[in-house]
Amino acid sequence: MGQTGGCMCGSVRYELHSEPFDGGWCHCRTCQLNSGAPAMAFASVKNGDWVVTSGQSALRTIRSSSFGHRTFCGECGTPLHVKVDHQPDTVDFSIVTLDDPNAIAPEFHIFWSSKADWFPGLDLPKHARFRPDTRGLSGTEPPDDSSLVGGG
Ligand SMILES: [Zn+2]
Ligand SMILES: [Zn+2]
Repeated sequence: MGQTGGCMCGSVRYELHSEPFDGGWCHCRTCQLNSGAPAMAFASVKNGDWVVTSGQSALRTIRSSSFGHRTFCGECGTPLHVKVDHQPDTVDFSIVTLDDPNAIAPEFHIFWSSKADWFPGLDLPKHARFRPDTRGLSGTEPPDDSSLVGGG
């Protein structure tokens, strides 16, 4: 069995039918706006090797640029993959949607010209979960344990 992944709400589950390659960060404005984050990390598989195993009916696809289509979960909004016209043989999926987000690491950056100046901020203080002095919380744990995947 190949590597598996899915969206935040669990409606969409998928499996890779080949090893992913070409892991990389994309800092384009479309990725920033689509994800609500400074950049997205993608890897590629051969077209047809990103296979939905459940939740096909929840998938939504939009044209996101003159050359790109983005597919996401219509229930929770998780961006899942991008297909671009100039690379019809591959699909680029969001690495962190794999059940093991460490399965492949990005090895390059594209659209560096629109990188947020403060990304990735590796010199900032780091907390495993919440900051100890988070407003409204007494500790570092979430207020309840009902979160889907461990965060807010
Ligand atoms: Zn979902
Ligand atoms: Zn991008």
